[in-house]
Amino acid sequence: MTATAAPVLRRYAESVAAAHDELTRLDQASGDGDFGDNLRSGLTRVLAELDGPGAGHGFDVAGRVFLDEVGGTSGPLFGLLFTEIARALDEDPVGGWARGAAAGLAAIQRVGEAEVGDRTLVDALAPAAAELERGTGFAAAARAAAEGARATAGLRARRGRASYVGERARGLPDPGAMGVALLFEALATTED
Ligand code: ADP
Ligand code: MG
Ligand code: MG
Repeated sequence: MTATAAPVLRRYAESVAAAHDELTRLDQASGDGDFGDNLRSGLTRVLAELDGPGAGHGFDVAGRVFLDEVGGTSGPLFGLLFTEIARALDEDPVGGWARGAAAGLAAIQRVGEAEVGDRTLVDALAPAAAELERGTGFAAAARAAAEGARATAGLRARRGRASYVGERARGLPDPGAMGVALLFEALATTED
């Protein structure tokens, strides 16, 4: 159960670019419509740094870029996740994915105070992190994240901008949760 960081980020950037319009549409329904731009532009900057001279090796770059340069509520939250994944992979290139996802979830919940069921990216990240901790593999984690994201369509938002729009977004999944699901899909399909 290993995967190399930079190829995962490249694949993630590709799938986010392909999903950009859909992520934008979802955030238009439940927020202000910038989520697709935030995630895509952040990953474009990450790839530019990875391709540049003397770059870091992957999630450390992603963590810094998202914490320092990406806007929206999601920018710093993804930054925390990427930073924790980088730290954990540094210590343990094999087991680091599970520890990084768990630590990233904890950091995001410390800052954002969302619980499972609040209709946020936590609804995709928590079940994926739990699968990784059980050791069931990247594909199981990706399925859990996708299922968690899909299920947000039936939830009323209790955190973030979406909590202001009430019932308007019901029936559509949370954009941040969809964005997290794409990350675990990239991990599962880059596995080496
Ligand atoms: P903004 O609402 O500031 O424009 P984005 O559009 O970049 O932020 O990101 C929106 C996403 O952020 C939501 O879909 C949700 O998944 C996530 N989010 C918002 N608030 C929280 C929170 N408190 N905890 C975890 N995730 C959150
Ligand atoms: Mg937004
Ligand atoms: Mg915004």
